[in-house]
Amino acid sequence: MKIHSLDSFGTLQPLKVGSTGHASEYRIFSLAEAEKKLGAGIRRLPVTLRVLMENLLRHEDGDSVTADDIRALAAWVDNPHSDRGISLHPVRVVLPDSSGVPMLADMAAMRDAMAEAGDDPRKVNPFCKVDFIVDHAVTAEYAGSPDAYAKNLALEFKENRERYELVKWAQREFSNFRVIPPGAGIVHQVNLEHLSRPIWSETIEGQRYAFPDSLVATDSHTPMINSLGVMGWGVGGIEAASAILGEPISMVIPEVVGCRLTGKLQPGVTSTDLALSVTQRLRQQGVIGKWVEFYGPGVKELRLPDRATLSNMSPEYGSTMSFFPIDEETLRYLELTGRKAEDIVLAEAYAKAQGLWSSAPADAVFSDSLEIDLGEIEASVSGPRLPQDRHPLAKVGDSFVKGFPAVKLPATASPRAQGSRGDLRDGDIVIASITSCTNTSNPAVLVAAGLLARNAQRKGLKPKPWVKTSLSPGSAVVSEYLNESGLQQSLDALGFHVVGYGCMTCAGGSGSLAPEISEAIEKNDLTVCAALSGNRNFEGRIHPEVKAGYLASPPLVVAYALAGTILTDLSRDSLGTGADGEPVYLKDIWPSDAEIAQTVERNLRRSQFIDCYSRCEEGEANWQALATPQGATFRWDPNSSMLRRPPFFDAAWLDKNPRGNFSNARILAMYGDSITTDHIAPMGHITKNVPAAQYLASLSIPYKEWGTYLLRRSNHDVLIRGAFANIRLRNQVCAPAEGGLTRHIPSGETIPVYEAAERYTAEKIPMVVIAGKEYGSGSSRDWAAKGPAALGVRAIIAESFERIHRSNLVGMGVVPLQLPEGVTWKTLGLDGTETLSIAGLQPTMAPRTMVECTIRRSDGSTETISLRSRLDTRREIGWYLSGGILNYVFDQIRQRSTALQEPATTA
Ligand code: SF4
Repeated sequence: MKIHSLDSFGTLQPLKVGSTGHASEYRIFSLAEAEKKLGAGIRRLPVTLRVLMENLLRHEDGDSVTADDIRALAAWVDNPHSDRGISLHPVRVVLPDSSGVPMLADMAAMRDAMAEAGDDPRKVNPFCKVDFIVDHAVTAEYAGSPDAYAKNLALEFKENRERYELVKWAQREFSNFRVIPPGAGIVHQVNLEHLSRPIWSETIEGQRYAFPDSLVATDSHTPMINSLGVMGWGVGGIEAASAILGEPISMVIPEVVGCRLTGKLQPGVTSTDLALSVTQRLRQQGVIGKWVEFYGPGVKELRLPDRATLSNMSPEYGSTMSFFPIDEETLRYLELTGRKAEDIVLAEAYAKAQGLWSSAPADAVFSDSLEIDLGEIEASVSGPRLPQDRHPLAKVGDSFVKGFPAVKLPATASPRAQGSRGDLRDGDIVIASITSCTNTSNPAVLVAAGLLARNAQRKGLKPKPWVKTSLSPGSAVVSEYLNESGLQQSLDALGFHVVGYGCMTCAGGSGSLAPEISEAIEKNDLTVCAALSGNRNFEGRIHPEVKAGYLASPPLVVAYALAGTILTDLSRDSLGTGADGEPVYLKDIWPSDAEIAQTVERNLRRSQFIDCYSRCEEGEANWQALATPQGATFRWDPNSSMLRRPPFFDAAWLDKNPRGNFSNARILAMYGDSITTDHIAPMGHITKNVPAAQYLASLSIPYKEWGTYLLRRSNHDVLIRGAFANIRLRNQVCAPAEGGLTRHIPSGETIPVYEAAERYTAEKIPMVVIAGKEYGSGSSRDWAAKGPAALGVRAIIAESFERIHRSNLVGMGVVPLQLPEGVTWKTLGLDGTETLSIAGLQPTMAPRTMVECTIRRSDGSTETISLRSRLDTRREIGWYLSGGILNYVFDQIRQRSTALQEPATTA
């Protein structure tokens, strides 16, 4: 890292930290100095924007960050709804393997292109610190047995060997690149417990600087780190790649919503209940795309892991960040988790010196504000499809009945055959999983689950035989304190054995159900449920055969496993019959807050964090046994169907994706609202008779080995064919046909989208896709942008775009164009036979400029409408005009090296 700020406002100042005799001196970009030069507005900024201000001061280069940008942020308090574009330079980029492996493949392809251009491939190297955590690939295929963990790990390595070798190559080749191998934990939990330091210090050119940590990561739950007073949020893989390669993050100065917390949680109410309630409340408030900053007396009542659960669910309520400033609790947590004493002292001194300590001043300005009384939070469960659909325990059964009106429940349930798995019914819970960094980062709720399991075991209760039970901790520390307290034994006794240290059920990696369960679901067309301590529950997310997903705290997950059906009212009904023949109720086995706190106190220690994390970069035996490919460029296996060199730097790719105005484009697809990244880039099983199937069959790969799109996500030839291939899509161009189809014009044939795109490309006909609101919602997935670009789609025209996905489209050179308010493909009367011409996409265009779209109908009539280009900043225009971020960065690296090679001219 380099510090090359122009420092127009003279803010670089010394900061002495520590007592006389032991003091260390750092250089900081002082916000107090900035206030002297730029006025009192800086003092009244929310803490989050003060952190952003420091980033601008430190990176003022006159290009990506200008003195005017700094003045604009200082003046934010006069208009806290700015639309000014600025650039953020994050300290770190954090990558889980799911999006990280495709990114490494892109960087390896860029190295190839550099070598092919006669340049040094090693010039392609991360420009900032990168933390790469392998956590998403492991699935809970095996569960409910002591050997489940070892079997899942072995399967993970079998399926991912080629990808992991690419990671090991990158680990060897790239500097600034740290890898946490499989089995260590989940990206955000590892980041919270180990990787992040709220304030970094670094010696640069002989000077020791201190500055706040800041990061972007390719997972939407990145805001979990906001609980540690660290600025960070989720971005798309393409945007993260650009940050790694030295490009700043392009953004608009955000709106900040102040959320004042008062009161304290009632006994028995967990941080999960809090997170689900706040999700519902902030959804109602409307914080989409904004930053949320917590303050007020209630903040002090929350332990840091409680704050982390709340921050983690930021994407569920729609905010970009959910920030808790650094305070005494942050320091306590840093101490507990084994951070170095000098870093803790620095965090306190820096935060106090820079006005980042504890909370914004009483007269701070927020764009909007609200108040939440912690005392009003109650035990809750959310579902069956949305995290914000929260219900008190007594209403959970009703939510199932209302959510699935086609399900006809009998008035009185008949008794079931004891021990039978196949006697499955609507509303039954087939998956109960303690999962997700959202909750496994919080010792209090995991200990509560363990104590509840112990109490249930003592009463002689067991989970129902149709429930697949699992525990997937987000770090090895969880196992340390659960084993030490003896609670893992109690969890094991109920089938909650550790299945792996990764995302697993939270990310949809819940593995297969028992054959007789799957058979019963299919045969009787049952609507069955998952109960999990995760954060997302839309239909099919947890498991393709499970329609209803209920999010609950870890102890409630155990309770639902005992009950076996979501229709049990946990506030009133018994969970089962105890060994003594008496009914057992939730209140009989729910542990007291005092016992939970004592158990955490006795069994959670700083030494456990130090011990676990001192070993986390080594990897276990499978990892160490993997080959590490050598060389500046990666040796691609030409016969691999799992990992292939991405095509983004090939001449054919750039020919296929020209930029700027275009004429007479065909409408490849026309969809309704809420088209998710799962619709655009499906990750499920590759079925027969789809383009990807034909491709795999052409390689003589037998059907049983095709697997999922997810498994083959590093083979672009599969994913291109999977673009818009989701079986649930309804493309209005070929209505009423469903699935990945379109109507080719003028032939009128209804054919797969991929095949039509190939034909249009061969005919040199540009293509567009038209959609409704919130196009690209759901998990961030880079292939949801790469797929349309690979098909040759020039523009996506929609009523609105999901934030990360919009930026991913720009990053792939596909222009997002927004329809005017109230205008839709329906109001325009489009049927898919029209052609569209776009004018106004030129190099001199301004951000968010209006462009002209001329619609020519099949009868020859024309109509022209205005669309807003969602190239939101000048930098994004540059990316688009280069054909996407990757090519933009490649050109920049080449230009820099050409400039260095050219002899200086003499006068
Ligand atoms: Fe994201 Fe869930 Fe994995 Fe956490 S556990 S990183 S929330 S998928």
